[in-house]
Amino acid sequence: MPTRSPRELATVPVELQARLERAGLRRTLATRAALGLFLNHPQGMFSHAQALSALQARGLDINRVTLYRLLDRLAACGVLQRHADDDARTWRYSLADLDQGQLPRFECNACHRQFRVAEGSAHTQAAASDLLRTLASLGHQGVRVDVAIHGTCAGCLPAADGAGGK
Ligand SMILES: [Zn+2]
Repeated sequence: MPTRSPRELATVPVELQARLERAGLRRTLATRAALGLFLNHPQGMFSHAQALSALQARGLDINRVTLYRLLDRLAACGVLQRHADDDARTWRYSLADLDQGQLPRFECNACHRQFRVAEGSAHTQAAASDLLRTLASLGHQGVRVDVAIHGTCAGCLPAADGAGGK
């Protein structure tokens, strides 16, 4: 894993730039700052409110509606991933995966940590290709497929008592 620069305006990976350009998203100061926030926390997830306060703490003058639209658009063009938060009924955003390809993602509902499931990724990719082909046959243009599994991670599960009951 390359170490990432803590600089505010991190380098935007080529693939993300391509997605931004395809979506016709202008690289405004707000866009760059929001991207920088996520690029500096590649494993992090931010709710809209968290992203807003983080950006405002860095001196960015952005209002909540503008940021909401921005996060939405970044998610729509595949730069960010949007995650439903079961409890709070809010969205959380994280940087879309690039180097992880289309590895299935397991997310713990309790602590919101994410895990990559490397096993079985070939099957997942085959299924993803199928889905994209199906979409294409309907005239749609799929860009990427996310496979997400939600549950409770090993760390959050109550310790097994070893008796194997229930
Ligand atoms: Zn957990």
